[in-house]
Amino acid sequence: MRVAVIGAGIVGVTTAYELAADGHEVTVFERRGSVAAETSFANAGVIAPGYVTPWAAPGMPGKVLRMLFERHAAVRLHASLDPALLAWLWRWWRACRPETWQANRTRMQRLAVFSRSRLHALMHTLQLEFEHETGYLVLLRSPADLAAARPGLKLLTELGGRFHLVDAPRCREIEPGLNPDTTLHAGIHLPDDEVGNCRQFAHLLRTEAQKLGVRWCFHTQVQRLVPGRTPQVVHRYMPPAESTQLLIEPASTSNGGPSTEPAPLEPIGEDFDAVVVCAAMGAPELLRPLGLKLPLRAVHGYSITAPLRPDDLPSERAPRAALMDERYKVAISRIGQRIRVSGSAELGGTLEKYDTAALDTLYKVLNDWFPGAGRMSQVQRWKGARPMLPDGPPVLGASGIEGVWLNLGHGSSGWALSCGSAFALAQAMAGREAPISLEGLGIARLR
Ligand SMILES: Cc1cc2nc3c(=O)[nH]c(=O)nc-3n(C[C@H](O)[C@H](O)[C@H](O)COP(=O)(O)OP(=O)(O)OC[C@H]3O[C@@H](n4cnc5c(N)ncnc54)[C@H](O)[C@@H]3O)c2cc1C
Repeated sequence: MRVAVIGAGIVGVTTAYELAADGHEVTVFERRGSVAAETSFANAGVIAPGYVTPWAAPGMPGKVLRMLFERHAAVRLHASLDPALLAWLWRWWRACRPETWQANRTRMQRLAVFSRSRLHALMHTLQLEFEHETGYLVLLRSPADLAAARPGLKLLTELGGRFHLVDAPRCREIEPGLNPDTTLHAGIHLPDDEVGNCRQFAHLLRTEAQKLGVRWCFHTQVQRLVPGRTPQVVHRYMPPAESTQLLIEPASTSNGGPSTEPAPLEPIGEDFDAVVVCAAMGAPELLRPLGLKLPLRAVHGYSITAPLRPDDLPSERAPRAALMDERYKVAISRIGQRIRVSGSAELGGTLEKYDTAALDTLYKVLNDWFPGAGRMSQVQRWKGARPMLPDGPPVLGASGIEGVWLNLGHGSSGWALSCGSAFALAQAMAGREAPISLEGLGIARLR
């Protein structure tokens, strides 16, 4: 089949690769100048299937309300309560019911476990190196933090992965760089969980996909889809000057590879046999005119990334792999020779406006645990929009509109879910049974 993929974030890149590997003729349309230029750009990079779980969970509404009044809150509300946000919150609140949460958690974790095995297969067969490290340590600052984490331990046991509840001295053996002056009560160590550079992986897989014949159209905005037996993609080339206005970090997003041919500025239509929408926050605008209203919200988050001090390498002051400060819900990741600190869940607001209080929390957590590890004069700040559906799982499969397929809405776990989602979707498009059950991941649940 001739397949168009819209969006070249981590979900679009993995989808394009899997479809090409399955023998399809694939074209990717991306409005930015390169792959992974939006939410897949500087995320925490954590792959921890046991922690892939819906934000819509029992007890969450109360927790969120309390957090709104805390200085170092994990959740922030930056919006007037517009009707669309209220409708989204209503659906989110309903999905917090124990039985709904339980079902969605099972679906997400099944996909996450499969996704990790697919990531490993790609990593080994294609020999991809993407600043990958093994190990995830959840830091519990106090007995109260441990008590709050206990129900999660039960869930980890159910999932069957390896994990150990460890005391503070053991945490410091696992991560010797942890600041001895910050109080630590205990930790949960998941030795098989991982961290890796999502953006770098996307670039490497893009090259592999290109070898399989994938055509990449960068600086190309899809304006409209015309469904049918041969769906049409109406797109327009945006000169770099126009599309860089959208860029988050203009200096570092281009990879210099062969990308775009000079193209006409007028919109042009191209016919395909199928279209896959992997456009994350760009998807509702494309699907609404076709009668599909997606309840997708941006939940913004931040990261700060700094190079490690060269005089320290190999650094005893820096993290070895990934950590999570459970009290502040802030991740600390080793990304090659850099340290990255990520967190915050901001509803509303815009990508351009940075909340200094949210950034302060990231600096606080960095200074609490790894003071002096990074060269802060070279810190890069980033803000991304998690494409979040109210109940948690992504939407994967046929859209119900002729010729149009969906792979989007991966929220806070798009990197951890991408390889599995892409493989499962390619199987479904070929009419083969998916390797895992896709029950509850379809669009029907959102109508
Ligand atoms: C602070 C933070 C930390 C995170 N940490 C983790 C983590 O540790 N682990 C994890 O698994 N996930 C994490 N995530 C979530 C993860 O980053 C996202 O789920 C993932 O990047 C989503 O990928 P995507 O490809 O769906 O979206 P994107 O990367 O946003 O890609 C969508 C692409 O579609 C393009 N597009 C949209 N509309 C159009 C159009 N009309 N025409 C052409 N192109 C279009 C966009 O330009 C964009 O490039 C984190 C997110 C944030 C914000």
